[in-house]
Amino acid sequence: MMNFRDSYKQQGKRQQLVDQIHEKGIHAQKVLQAINHIPRHLFMDSSFEDHAYQDKAFPITSGQTISQPYTVAFQTQLLDVQQGDKILEIGTGSGYQTAVLCLLKAKVYTVERQVKLYKKTKLLLEKLGFYPRQMTYGDGYKGWKEFAPYDKILVTAGAPQLPKTLLGQLKLGGKMVIPVGEKSQVMTTIIRRSATEFDKKTYGDFRFVPLVADRS
Ligand code: SAH
Repeated sequence: MMNFRDSYKQQGKRQQLVDQIHEKGIHAQKVLQAINHIPRHLFMDSSFEDHAYQDKAFPITSGQTISQPYTVAFQTQLLDVQQGDKILEIGTGSGYQTAVLCLLKAKVYTVERQVKLYKKTKLLLEKLGFYPRQMTYGDGYKGWKEFAPYDKILVTAGAPQLPKTLLGQLKLGGKMVIPVGEKSQVMTTIIRRSATEFDKKTYGDFRFVPLVADRS
């Protein structure tokens, strides 16, 4: 990573945040280490920077949010990221989750619907030395066919229902983590068992900004 502001105070607060999410049930060491390593404050608007190490979501550009650290950790743990995994992320947003996946040495393909956010985040990730394989803007509801299939798919916005096209872009044995629901979302994992069979499991309730499907 390049030069950036990361004070001892911020590092100390970050360690406390890691302890908190550990207590809340995140046990994957690699995930905790990634949270400990990544300066979340640099992914936030400067007006919220002081709050970066609270376990809360905050507003970012274009009316979107940076997810709560616990949620990022929970989704990452469920995704069971292995070095070299080819991962499609829908909802780049601030790029914080993207940075976590990059740090875990995944090959990341990430899609953001808001062009302004896409541009801003692309620059930030470059500046910080995180390199997803590919980034684009557009409707991730349809996945990203060009590079499919993927070992894993991570959706970081609330899907009103399971997007069928996304299921089709999973490799056999591949796993998707997606919050499903309208007002609040049930964290859901899907494992592809065959061309037509999928195993579904559900976890707790979460709250995400909506996954918006563009009509075209
Ligand atoms: N992981 C991000 C989450 C941002 S919130 C972070 O922690 O910062 C979810 C993001 O999904 C928003 O930026 C929103 O613009 C984006 N989004 C919503 N619908 C989308 C779609 N159909 N395709 C791609 N991105 C979408």
